[in-house]
Amino acid sequence: MKEINAKVREIASKLLGNGDIDVFMAWEQGDYEYQRKPFFARSKDEVEKIIFDEYCIHNLSTSLLKFRDSQQKIGIVVKGCDSRGIIRLLEDNQFSRERLYIVGINCSGMKDPLIAMKSDSGFQKTFEEEGLAAKCSFCVYPNPVIADEVLGDEQTPRSKDEKYAKVKEFEEKSIQERYEYFESVLSTCIRCYACRQACVACNCRTCIFDETKPQWVGRETSLSDNMMYHLVRALHMAGRCIECGECQRVCPVDIPLMLINSKLAKDVDNFFGPYEAGIKYEEGSKPPLSSYQESDPDDFI
Ligand code: SF4
Ligand code: SF4
Ligand code: SF4
Repeated sequence: MKEINAKVREIASKLLGNGDIDVFMAWEQGDYEYQRKPFFARSKDEVEKIIFDEYCIHNLSTSLLKFRDSQQKIGIVVKGCDSRGIIRLLEDNQFSRERLYIVGINCSGMKDPLIAMKSDSGFQKTFEEEGLAAKCSFCVYPNPVIADEVLGDEQTPRSKDEKYAKVKEFEEKSIQERYEYFESVLSTCIRCYACRQACVACNCRTCIFDETKPQWVGRETSLSDNMMYHLVRALHMAGRCIECGECQRVCPVDIPLMLINSKLAKDVDNFFGPYEAGIKYEEGSKPPLSSYQESDPDDFI
């Protein structure tokens, strides 16, 4: 990782020094030893702050939205999951490819800073061994799918069967059991919207959940309002979620959001595919549920 870190700084320094880019996006040290946060270097002098190590878990592509309305050219470091986020933004016309210089890193997996923080807090009775972060345990694309240059050794992806194991187990349950399960977990949602904020696919300028005139969705943390929030978000993610796992990682009440996202990805792949979101960029291409033809079957309407 040290070699990769040095190489990233070298690339950032060169790009900023040559004036090829205006900003270089990577990670920097946070307040705690195990905390990293997105960092935006704007000059060669700042590149020494850049860190790449096993705690750089955020999906950096989401931070590109801060620059959506500018003309600035951006250098960005991406792991496999982040690179799929870039394809999401390109397909959604939120960014143009010409504005980006993408430094890909073949990713061997990240640790979850939250687990380190809990162990460090003194409140946890037993020390939790820091392994691979949950989101990395089902990663099928650890190697960047789009990049101008790639660093590090190519990694072996996990199989799709591993990724869908929990979904398949869940599909065995009856409709009533599934409903009761979601009723129970979604009733704990505090509607903090952290899942939406961390999500690269949630890139609408005005979100339906923020609108008040008209107010499309109730804002109580009642079961029905919570269900409506998660149903709407699930439908907006179908065929668009790039399975980065960030929504579940940031959820303060541990709602298993990836169970929903993986089920959607699996069904879109089965019924409208073969298709996986954010693995290949072709100008003008759209996810299956974002386009239609007049000849599409509509008997169910
Ligand atoms: S999800 Fe994959 S690419 Fe992303 S941090 Fe984990 S192992 Fe790396
Ligand atoms: S819904 Fe979750 S897993 Fe899917 S793109 Fe958004 S943050 Fe990533
Ligand atoms: S992050 Fe968790 S608690 Fe917050 S809105 Fe999303 S699901 Fe609900």
